[in-house]
Amino acid sequence: MDARNNKPSELEIFREFLKRQGMRYTPERETIIKEIFSTHEHFDVDSLYISIRQKGLRVSKASIYRLIPLLIKANLIEEVFFENGQMHYEHIYGHEHHCHLRCQECKRIEEFSDKRVAQIEEDLQRRFNYKILRHKLEVIGLCSECQKKSNSS
Ligand SMILES: [Zn+2]
Ligand SMILES: [Zn+2]
Repeated sequence: MDARNNKPSELEIFREFLKRQGMRYTPERETIIKEIFSTHEHFDVDSLYISIRQKGLRVSKASIYRLIPLLIKANLIEEVFFENGQMHYEHIYGHEHHCHLRCQECKRIEEFSDKRVAQIEEDLQRRFNYKILRHKLEVIGLCSECQKKSNSS
């Protein structure tokens, strides 16, 4: 049990969202969404497709590609970074906002949050008279392991 108990689930939110858009909540859509929200991992379309197929379930990749923009519009997931020709996504609903530090070599990802980022948002809000909606901060580097490897070669 987690602190999200009294909040509607991702499925409920999405079902409502589809209804408002006049779209149908199909079993295929449900299969994809359940897979997406079964873990809090960053995912891309290929990895999602493979894990659904490994469970013996049938969905088409095209359906996944069509579903993702809807999940973004419903504020359930967000684009995180683009790598190897694939956009990677993560859940945002019910999750604390965080930024990403990524190793360019081994692709590991550290998630971090820092109050100073919120302060920058406030500054920007004042300086440019913007209403800030969100930000993305991605920092690329070499993790300690990969630094050791590149030093020894
Ligand atoms: Zn690394
Ligand atoms: Zn993340």
